[in-house]
Parts: sequence; structure tokens; C-alpha cells
Amino acid sequence: MLMEALCFAVLQGGALDGVYRLAQFHIHWGSCEGQGSEHTVDGVKYDAELHIVHWNVKYGKFAEAVKHPDGLAVVGIFMKVGNARPEIQKVLDALNSIQTKGKQASFTNFDPTGLLPACRDYWTYPGSLTTPPLLECVIWHVLKEPITVSPEQMCKLRGLCFSAENEPVCHMVDNWRPCQPLKSREVRASFQ
Ligand SMILES: [Zn+2]
Repeated sequence: MLMEALCFAVLQGGALDGVYRLAQFHIHWGSCEGQGSEHTVDGVKYDAELHIVHWNVKYGKFAEAVKHPDGLAVVGIFMKVGNARPEIQKVLDALNSIQTKGKQASFTNFDPTGLLPACRDYWTYPGSLTTPPLLECVIWHVLKEPITVSPEQMCKLRGLCFSAENEPVCHMVDNWRPCQPLKSREVRASFQ
């Protein structure tokens, strides 16, 4: 599920030098509770993970930015099943018209900052895209505090399909990449 941004929201500060412009946001989730996030905390997975993707304006365009280690800045937000998150409902309602592959819907005037948790503590490390071609171009900021969504809201995500309208139904679930070896990367925290 991908929402492309036509607005000019920017991200700066944190572990970043310069200004990063919002490109899109998307979500990874599981087929059931207990899996779905692409980052883990002390080995524990969350039920889903929201990624808000920004690119470094000094590279002029997104396609150029992904060729550089400081090209993208992605904010990762853990999601778990609990209380409903009213701010995400507008996204979920838009999914009604794009249940199957190849469909599009217009989606405007949405501010993803409504999806951030109250606490802005984060971990940061230099990493990669989690989908092919897995380019090492991302400065990650993974927020410590998860947001919650209701069971119904999570079901709405799991109801989407990888398949097209005229194909056998294949639900879009477990679209997450497992954790990878840290190797020599250093993970830093913004908090004690
Ligand atoms: Zn992602």
C-alpha cells in the first residue's frame, strides 16, 4: 500500500544534515498479530510498521537520491493492535476503492504527522531500502513508541489483495522483510 505525496512536507534535524522532502508513506504488516514490523526491539516484532519516506533535496530528484548513502530519510513507526487511531482512518477508508492490484485512488490533504506517536524518541542507523533493489541509501529513524490501531483497522490492511480483480484472491499480508545482520552499522539512540 503506497501513498504518494504531492505536497512539500519536509524532514530535517535528527541525524540528518540538510533538508529531506516527503515522497510517500507505506505500511508493512503481518498475516496475524505478533509479526509484521521490519525492525525488532530486543528481538520482539510489532504487528505492523509505517514508513514515511523522504529524499534529500540536494540530489535534485528521488531517483538520484537513492544512489547515495544519505539519499533517503525514512521514519519508521511501529504499529500494534489496541485502541483505534482516528488519524489513520482516512487512509483506511481510501483502501475501499483500491482493494485489488492495479487500482488507484486520489488522496489529498493528508498530513502524516497525525500518525506520529506522542514521544519522538528514536533509534537511528545507516541502512537500506527493505524492498528490491535494497539500496544502501537510507538514514533510518525508528521511533521507540508505537502507535495503536484497532483490530478492525488492522483487518482493513489485511483485506487488501496482491491479486487483480479477475485473478484468484491472494491477500496482501506478510509484506515485511525479516531483520538482517547489523554487520558494522552503529545504532544510536536519541534518548538515554
Ligand atoms: Zn517500507
